[in-house]
Amino acid sequence: MTRLLIVGPQGSGKGTQGVRIAEAFGIPAVSTGDVFRAAVAEGSDLGQQVKTVIEAGDLVSDELTSAVVRDRLSQPDAQGGFLLDGYPRNVSQVMHLDEFLEGREEGLDAVIELSVPRDESISRLTLRAQEQGRTDDTEEVIANRLGIYERETAPILGVYGTRGIVVQIDGVGSLDEITARIVAALEARGIARDAAA
Ligand code: AMP
Repeated sequence: MTRLLIVGPQGSGKGTQGVRIAEAFGIPAVSTGDVFRAAVAEGSDLGQQVKTVIEAGDLVSDELTSAVVRDRLSQPDAQGGFLLDGYPRNVSQVMHLDEFLEGREEGLDAVIELSVPRDESISRLTLRAQEQGRTDDTEEVIANRLGIYERETAPILGVYGTRGIVVQIDGVGSLDEITARIVAALEARGIARDAAA
């Protein structure tokens, strides 16, 4: 039973590494960004509520986001563990998640902090904008999202840091190298793939 969170600035590769690590541990990767983008693409009620916020690179409200996550983590496939990507994204969401997990007598085993220099993030995001055409990957929106990361999301690492569960990973290198770094760092903390399931 492994419960993980991956945190990093936009363009750090956290989405890609999150999926790889979740696969390695046999747990679902739960990305709030993916949930919101899928809702927008479907044109569902949720999608209509979040579309303009996402396109501006701002944060969806804590209440709505936390409700989406509680719902997702209550599904059967998340009972044996999960990897969260993109949530919590501020200290208030950390408190929402704490309350939810405490109610289930659960907690996070580790918080993976993926670090990349700011100019590397920007160049990766610019490339992704060309390849995937994400509406929130324009230069202005990228700057907004990175600013929000520094102001609102980075402080959650301080909170988890005091709990001693942050695992710092250098996010520069090939995809395989970085995945191997994360797996090794988790194993060094006794969080092994064999213990998953
Ligand atoms: P991401 O793919 O994680 O960068 O998320 C894309 C967008 O979805 C963000 O820029 C926000 O607008 C929204 N979003 C994702 N996760 C959250 C969250 N935990 N809280 C608020 N908004 C979020």
